[in-house]
Amino acid sequence: PGRGARPGRWVVVDDEVRARAHHTLRLIADLRRALASATLDVHYQPIVRARDRGDRGDVVSVEALCRWQHPEFGSIDPQVFIQVAERSNLVPAVDGAVLRRALQDLAAWRAAHLRGELPRCPDHVAVNVSALSLVAPGFADAVRAAVAGAGLRPTDLCLEVTETTLAGDLSACRAVLEELRALGVRVAIDDFGTGYSSLAYLRGLPADHLKIDRAFVADLRGPGPDSTTARAVVAAVVALARALDLVVVAEGVETFEQERVLADLGCDLLQGFLYARPQSAAQLRSLLRGPEVLTATAGRGVVRPR
Ligand code: C2E
Ligand code: MG
Ligand code: MG
Ligand code: MG
Repeated sequence: PGRGARPGRWVVVDDEVRARAHHTLRLIADLRRALASATLDVHYQPIVRARDRGDRGDVVSVEALCRWQHPEFGSIDPQVFIQVAERSNLVPAVDGAVLRRALQDLAAWRAAHLRGELPRCPDHVAVNVSALSLVAPGFADAVRAAVAGAGLRPTDLCLEVTETTLAGDLSACRAVLEELRALGVRVAIDDFGTGYSSLAYLRGLPADHLKIDRAFVADLRGPGPDSTTARAVVAAVVALARALDLVVVAEGVETFEQERVLADLGCDLLQGFLYARPQSAAQLRSLLRGPEVLTATAGRGVVRPR
């Protein structure tokens, strides 16, 4: 009792707070430098059709995921640096850089595909955007310019927005999403099930895809109460999506058991380490070129007949 009030203790806490604030300021400065020198990287993770059970022939889409290799601290978790970017007004620059890069990479794969050098090519690329980027002035114009600059069409792009961030400024986000969808850009609601969505909320949202949060997919393991609940959630989301004419995507698929349950429950598209990890543009290109099925690249030594 009373220990917390000792002066020494306050100093310790204060130092911790100060150290953390200092570290955040350092990350902000370094992220700004990384943006200026274009050293942020983009990795891609395939999204496959559920009914074809992961055959690489059906890489419907790839999700672009930002990567930051810090010169001193090494690879930084995207959750960490995206949050830093959101708090320092840098996130529109990060999202814009990833968007342009992803569209250029898709354009290159498509050109190789048309030349006959790549047997297959994703139909579109999915790019994560923070709600802060979405409502930044000129976002829709920037998207339009990036698509045109890459020589692509709006239907070649899907924007992933998370349910929780959308809730913040729903009417502003909705207006921008509606404008983009009118052009043909697809919209995915990411991490679905973790926020506060009600049916009424969803109905008002301009979207094409619903991505079930990977926490529910993770719980689809064996028998047990968590698994039963997760199954019920997935079934409910699929029913909801059907009623609203949305495509259902499950993310974080790691096992064949999860794959089977998700496919049986009616998910349309699957994404996860079972098929492929996020990988560099060059690695993805060789994956699209190679003869092996996707599961072989997950490092589990599983090869299925095509
Ligand atoms: P997200 O959009 O939900 O992306 C999916 C995350 O799940 C990725 O984490 C991916 O590597 C991971 N993942 C994929 N398959 C599996 C699996 O089978 N098992 C497990 N355990 N994880 C899997 P990552 O790359 O660390 O990204 C984390 C989050 O950071 C993303 O979640 C997204 O919200 C955000 N993010 C990443 N890149 C960007 C970006 O360019 N802009 C914005 N605004 N956010 C981004
Ligand atoms: Mg995403
Ligand atoms: Mg997600
Ligand atoms: Mg997420």
